[in-house]
Amino acid sequence: MTQHPGKPAGLSDPHELDLFEFARSGRQAAGIVRVSQLPRMLNEVPADAPDRDTAFTWQAEGTTQPELQDDGTEGPQPYLRMAIHGAAWLECQRCLRPYSQTFNVDATYRIVNTEAEAEEFPLDEDEVEVIVGSRQFDLIDLIEEELLLSLPLVPKHEVCPEVHESLVSGTDGSEGEDEAGEGGEPEQSDERTNPFAALESLKRDEPGDKKH
Ligand SMILES: [Zn+2]
Repeated sequence: MTQHPGKPAGLSDPHELDLFEFARSGRQAAGIVRVSQLPRMLNEVPADAPDRDTAFTWQAEGTTQPELQDDGTEGPQPYLRMAIHGAAWLECQRCLRPYSQTFNVDATYRIVNTEAEAEEFPLDEDEVEVIVGSRQFDLIDLIEEELLLSLPLVPKHEVCPEVHESLVSGTDGSEGEDEAGEGGEPEQSDERTNPFAALESLKRDEPGDKKH
């Protein structure tokens, strides 16, 4: 070998990763994925979110662990460890306004060869998930899957902003029970008492200032 023929296909593209090779040679990869690249995740982001395209950072690490095999011997078996961090805007189910939800995923997967193998796999360790590996594994798809699984059952603010607003503007009389506008439009005070307009009319009404 005299020259590197460029990056081997399947090693650098997180959409087409040779997962078995990744684990066997203990590789690491990291990157950033945006919500706009994750269509099912984007579905969860409300249209009025301040930012619909937030980013997640991810790190993946391949390893092997010796395990007893069917034939009674011990052999190295492929594992993947993955961490995902970031935030996405979701719709609060209490006040129906967008809020920023943080995601922190740290998952370990035992990589198996086939779907059938995955179903048979003895899950004695519940911290380990089982995934079917491939030579063109879509890591981004797995990241999206993990994020969807990490969605809160009932997305909501820890404290909805209405609480603050009604405390601040508590002198408004309206008994605090108002839902602050169903459509989320800000309450415009519709006072047409423009001080300049008042000044204008004052000028006009002024009796002529002419001196004789
Ligand atoms: Zn809320």
